[in-house]
Amino acid sequence: MAAMATKACHMLIGGELVESESGAWDESLNPANEEVIGRTPAGTAADVDKAARAAERAWPAWAAMGVIGRAEILRTFGARLLERADELLSVEVMDTGNTIGPMRGDVRMAVDSLNYYAGLGYELKGQTIPSTPGNLHLTVREPYGIVVRIVPFNHPVMFATARTAAALTAGNAAIIKPPETSPLSAMVLAQIARDVFPPGVFNIVTGSGATAGDALVRHPMVKRIAFIGSTATGRAIQMAAAESAVKHVSLELGGKNPMIVFPDADPDAVAKAAVAGMNFSWQGQSCGSTSRLLLHDSLHDQVLERVVDLVSSLRVGDPLDEDSQMGPINSARQLAKVEHYVRIGEAEGARLLTGGRRPQGSMFARGYWIRPAVFGGVTSNMRIAKEEIFGPVLSVLRWSTVDEAIAMANTVDYGLTAAIWTNDIDTAFSTARRVRAGHQWINGYGAHYMAVPFGGVKASGIGREEALEEMLDYTEIKTINVILRGPRATGARGEPKADLTGSR
Ligand code: NAD
Repeated sequence: MAAMATKACHMLIGGELVESESGAWDESLNPANEEVIGRTPAGTAADVDKAARAAERAWPAWAAMGVIGRAEILRTFGARLLERADELLSVEVMDTGNTIGPMRGDVRMAVDSLNYYAGLGYELKGQTIPSTPGNLHLTVREPYGIVVRIVPFNHPVMFATARTAAALTAGNAAIIKPPETSPLSAMVLAQIARDVFPPGVFNIVTGSGATAGDALVRHPMVKRIAFIGSTATGRAIQMAAAESAVKHVSLELGGKNPMIVFPDADPDAVAKAAVAGMNFSWQGQSCGSTSRLLLHDSLHDQVLERVVDLVSSLRVGDPLDEDSQMGPINSARQLAKVEHYVRIGEAEGARLLTGGRRPQGSMFARGYWIRPAVFGGVTSNMRIAKEEIFGPVLSVLRWSTVDEAIAMANTVDYGLTAAIWTNDIDTAFSTARRVRAGHQWINGYGAHYMAVPFGGVKASGIGREEALEEMLDYTEIKTINVILRGPRATGARGEPKADLTGSR
């Protein structure tokens, strides 16, 4: 596997698998044991410029191909991904540390999204508007040209494909920037995409965020940037974009998501959902992880005890082992961040009830391992209740009045997801309307559903993805007013000439 990944490492620019112009390389480590498993070209501004020029040359013909032609190519891309699904999966698991069972779903979701958007192309519709009598006012949707898609480390292959499909369907060429700590699956994608797309339509530029990422954001040919990652980087991208030109930036950012549990919920079901909602198979490294469990007084102790039992019995181990329920943290930097927050939680006076330490045993001597942690006695003012850790750390808080629960839910800067557990429909809906989060579940957690918009409010982002809205967001509206001459425009029945509302 390691040898294969090392050989496979090229960017895809203008239909060619290439190294960086600089000749420099970045190494990628297996987070389970810190071994080098591949290297990728260290992309620079020169590579970005090459990719932007290739995409600029490619998109007009891609757009002119029409939705049927583009859909056929997207579906072929999906079929080729499935042919190499096992390879993609093992590369991805070794490069991210995410456990193999749930990761299988990522490749499937990638293909499902390609097929979904392929079928959605006919919805790239404009409108006719009856603004003035006799004349024709219409809109058409046109692609931006180039869409830059910047991807985080938790679902690299899925985001690089599923979250590029809408932009491609809309007639744009794409440039993808994989995450620097987990770029290897994109190298397999590069090989597949080279054989499927017209040159320059699907490009991949590897490298650091500060170099390749920033150069992509600032490139003058790029007007549309779609980012998934941290709020801090999202804000840096907004600034860099604004410094270089007028650009459209959409942002899928971090979360500190509450699961609000009312007294009538089933404690056992809640405990299971709270653990599942943390996404420990991804080491809690999910934007939608329900990392704040807000329990009503009446069931607090019972649910907390059950949650601690479940979390302490999770099997942490080799992510390639089907029985593992949690693998290593993605990188040394991310592990250091998680450990830092565990220390902060302890220093703030929260009770560490399980985990938060490196597991015992020789297989854990190297690699970025930590046992999943649960903190009890957390209050809203603590940093572990407010800041996104993006790791396997669950903070449990208690409340007694509904207003208190809503205030707790809304006190953080983030507003990505929320889970509400109750059997009372009035309580469920009134809470859903009062909680400021873009994507909510009532008696559920974590799931994304095809064609259902996903995205955050407040510091969690701008824009919605995974649905029709995402595809339309990769188009600009062009308005065409046809001023008709003849009897209809002057008014066949003698009505006044076109009632214009003024010119500006
Ligand atoms: P990150 O912000 O550190 O990096 C994300 C990507 O941005 C990487 O490819 C990185 O190279 C690139 N990048 C970094 N600096 C850049 C710059 N200045 N200009 C351009 N690109 C730059 O995030 P991460 O640590 O990889 O991922 C974790 C974060 O992603 C968490 O905050 C998580 O909540 C968020 N996330 C959000 C969603 C969502 O849908 N809302 C989904 C997954 C992850």
